[in-house]
Amino acid sequence: MSTAENSPATNFIRQIVSKDLAENKLNKVITRFPPEPNGFLHIGHAKSICLNFGVAAENNGLCNLRFDDTNPEKESIEYVQAIEKDVHWLGFEWAELRHSSDYFEALYSFAVQLIEKGLAYVDSLSAEKIREYRGSLTQAGKESPDRSRSIAENLDLFSRMRAGEFADGQYLLRAKIDMASANINMRDPALYRIRRVHHQRTGDNWCIYPMYDYTHCISDAIEGITHSLCTLEFEDHRPLYDWVLDNIDIASHPQQIEFARLELEYTIVSKRKLNQLVVDGHVSGWDDPRMPTLAGLRRAGFTPASIRDFCERIGVTKKDSSIEMAVLESCIREDLNITAARAMAVLDPIKVVIENYPDDQTEQLEASNHPQNEAMGKRKIPFTKEVYIDRDDFAEVPPPKYKRLIAGGEVRLRGAYVIKCQQIIKDAEGKVVELRCTYDENTLGKKPEGRKVKGVIHWVSAPYAVDAEVRLYDRLFNVPNPGSEENYCDALNPDSLHVIKQAKVEPSLADAEPGGRFQFERVGYFCLDTEDSLDGKLVFNRTVTLRDTWV
Ligand code: ATP
Ligand code: MG
Repeated sequence: MSTAENSPATNFIRQIVSKDLAENKLNKVITRFPPEPNGFLHIGHAKSICLNFGVAAENNGLCNLRFDDTNPEKESIEYVQAIEKDVHWLGFEWAELRHSSDYFEALYSFAVQLIEKGLAYVDSLSAEKIREYRGSLTQAGKESPDRSRSIAENLDLFSRMRAGEFADGQYLLRAKIDMASANINMRDPALYRIRRVHHQRTGDNWCIYPMYDYTHCISDAIEGITHSLCTLEFEDHRPLYDWVLDNIDIASHPQQIEFARLELEYTIVSKRKLNQLVVDGHVSGWDDPRMPTLAGLRRAGFTPASIRDFCERIGVTKKDSSIEMAVLESCIREDLNITAARAMAVLDPIKVVIENYPDDQTEQLEASNHPQNEAMGKRKIPFTKEVYIDRDDFAEVPPPKYKRLIAGGEVRLRGAYVIKCQQIIKDAEGKVVELRCTYDENTLGKKPEGRKVKGVIHWVSAPYAVDAEVRLYDRLFNVPNPGSEENYCDALNPDSLHVIKQAKVEPSLADAEPGGRFQFERVGYFCLDTEDSLDGKLVFNRTVTLRDTWV
């Protein structure tokens, strides 16, 4: 069901929103993206961001960024800042920046309202007893003895909870719904708990904090959210979402709609588990290029457009599925094929000496920065008597159909001359250290006369080459679904990073900007690292190989 070109494919959420607008159920679509600031955003969040901001933008609506900050012990300002940066980087602008903590006072008043209506009570059961009384999927729960506490007493206890008269965990405010409900979320869920923790925004003003389910629906309603989009695990919480809004005095009642989470193969999309990888030092940080975080993907060289494209391609449904990494990679490959400047880099150099080339001569050859895009301009590439080629591009004993350099054979140096290998020089261990070649001076930009030379290989001038460190990344985990493993750290791929300390790259790359993206011809797509490329040291991260190597 594709719509006009360039407009996003429809999905069940876009259909619901369009229908609501057509039926005049609302004037303006208002959505929100509500991360908890307890970690960096990952590719799963990108799906939610693209959906929430996308649906709003397509309908001339608004989307808020709301920090769901009701769990102060795990939250921090560092995460808040990282999240703001990542949402902006993805290309979205929020209408308003809000925090659940902005509503602490309102949330408290609504809780008082529920108590006054006899719909909430202060419970003194221990956590253990509460669990026991909750019952199970097959067994109804049991009512707490405190359930019949008078409204006056509940009001008094709740205000004293706020005033800090009780110890953490001594009391809980619970909704009075139905301990026999088939839906366990409706068995008198907790609304407030006592917790003496410093909050990154409200400091020590509060020693009671509202629970997620209670906070979320009211925050949505306060902001006039029309469609509250969340992942499928909240489907069973929707009755509670609606119950709270139906029972407090608030005009607005957002519609909660659930969609499937994104799962991506060979990686993990859970802030908690990603945090463990950082804490245990399995990766260099939240922005390690192997991480599926937006910061990691950015550092690896992914573009915001490629991630938006990915989110559009995977679609939005109600069915859980795991997406192959190849889908994400093909999005960035397609983008960089069009947008990345070309350059030459030799990752595992062998020196080639062109014996019949003048000793001190340098020719400044001209090369296009992009073969299909003249507008990207040209650059100069020096050619000299000594060049480096990649070890892979020479074979003493060539496999069948090998089109690169062999003993006595010819190959073209890309954008330059045809050379012929005359002599192989090895070290004591038999490793090839140098190739003595000759060149045909009549082959610059021309075919050689009287013979065919099929192979073309990349190279860099030895005296002009610039040293670079190149980091080749591979999948972070060895199993397709590490998130389902109890000990997911055991499934880490020990070879997920291969560092090449002494690559040789063409001199134009000395001027690359951190974050600059390139296609190293015949090698892959690379990005100049933004963190470690300091004081003239070049560090390139491999974003993606030229072709799909996952199969
Ligand atoms: P995590 O387990 O990684 O912390 P979360 O769902 O607890 O994930 P939140 O910060 O609460 O993270 O999420 C903010 C929003 O992003 C929520 O609306 C959530 O449903 C959505 N979201 C989180 N992970 C995914 C995912 N893998 N796919 C789609 N949406 C997601
Ligand atoms: Mg969460």
